Amino acid sequence: RAKSQGGGRQVFYQEEMSHSLTRQLAMEQALRKAIEQNELLLHYQPQFAAESQALIGAEALIRWQPKNGPSVSPAVFIPIAEETGLIVPIGNWVTRTACRQAVAWMQQGLSQPFLISVNVSLRQFQEPDFVASIIAILEETTLPPELLVLEITESIAMSDEREAVEKLLALKDRGIQIAMDDFGTGYSSLAVLKRYQVDKLKIDQAFVRDIGENEEQSTIIEAILAMAASLKVEVIAEGVETHSQYLFLKERGCGAIQGYYFGKPLAVADFEGRFLR
Ligand code: C2E
Ligand code: MG
Ligand code: MG
Ligand code: MG
Repeated sequence: RAKSQGGGRQVFYQEEMSHSLTRQLAMEQALRKAIEQNELLLHYQPQFAAESQALIGAEALIRWQPKNGPSVSPAVFIPIAEETGLIVPIGNWVTRTACRQAVAWMQQGLSQPFLISVNVSLRQFQEPDFVASIIAILEETTLPPELLVLEITESIAMSDEREAVEKLLALKDRGIQIAMDDFGTGYSSLAVLKRYQVDKLKIDQAFVRDIGENEEQSTIIEAILAMAASLKVEVIAEGVETHSQYLFLKERGCGAIQGYYFGKPLAVADFEGRFLR
């Protein structure tokens, strides 16, 4: 009896697996088509100086809007793009599009300096010509390198350390800024920040969400801010949704703010409507 049950369970697992495999393959096909048919676009979420509330930049966030069908969240398709390697051409497209957009907005009179942030997957970062492709995009779009921020995650701490440090230093040599995204959720530590010499860290929204609700999380934020100050690393808080979260962060020296309270990710026309007039 036990044996047949075990066998049944195994069949069940196999079906589950082939279902998810089929789904994954279908997704991959759809994603390839999305690239060809220009169904990918960028939204831009504004970032503000905490003290003055002045616009200081924006984060480019990818969106997939199929011609006929509901939009697909990056949380769903980015992992598939990473597994299939499609993230490499997608990532180049994102970087090129965001740099070009920033240049266009500055030419149209957007307040400066305006920093444009782009998310970089580990898979992209590990490409041998990653640094060269970023530099080529900067030259092509004429964006000053100092205005580009690459958001990396702590997962790079798990890649070849020497190679990672070499690449980050090559980018920083050019003036490109590095931000550690989702800080506090992974293996982040003082050591990681120092080793990779990041310019900024982004406090993950999981911590911001609990400000005022959960004393432990608030203490973590205070510790991160103190540590960042001693390392002279700039801090930007993600996922700021309320006035009290904003006040808490500002009063403790958090330099910059990003979140729904000040602005959601916006389509190009909406961003221009709000910030370019
Ligand atoms: P992320 O880089 O940490 O981006 C922040 C996410 O938080 C975005 O979700 C943003 O829309 C959301 N967010 C911003 N403010 C608030 C807030 O106040 N409250 C809440 N609840 N959420 C807020 P989104 O756009 O769905 O992107 C999810 C993740 O997908 C990103 O997290 C990033 O890891 C990845 N991603 C997005 N675009 C790209 C891309 O072009 N390349 C790569 N490699 N990854 C990307
Ligand atoms: Mg990010
Ligand atoms: Mg984040
Ligand atoms: Mg994230």
